[in-house]
Amino acid sequence: MAILTEKQYVAEGGGKCPVCKDTDIVGGSTDYIGDTIIQEIHCQVCQASWNDLYKLDGYEFHDYDGVGRPQALLQDVLDRPIAGLASWPAS
Ligand SMILES: [Zn+2]
Repeated sequence: MAILTEKQYVAEGGGKCPVCKDTDIVGGSTDYIGDTIIQEIHCQVCQASWNDLYKLDGYEFHDYDGVGRPQALLQDVLDRPIAGLASWPAS
């Protein structure tokens, strides 16, 4: 049984030992360098150790009110003048 290449490991989503393919693995501490997070992983079955590498892939706002609007965006909308209000009451 061949050791998974890095490409195969990523394609299969990680989560298992690249050597013995067992899922009895434990993740250790994480560290990050630049846009990469590194996590030490250890296989409980064959004792292999490796690092999983996570690359920054984007960002997303935290939900604010359940529909994904963050406070800053909501405030920006609230601060906008309401069309027609400046001329109210109409004479
Ligand atoms: Zn293993």
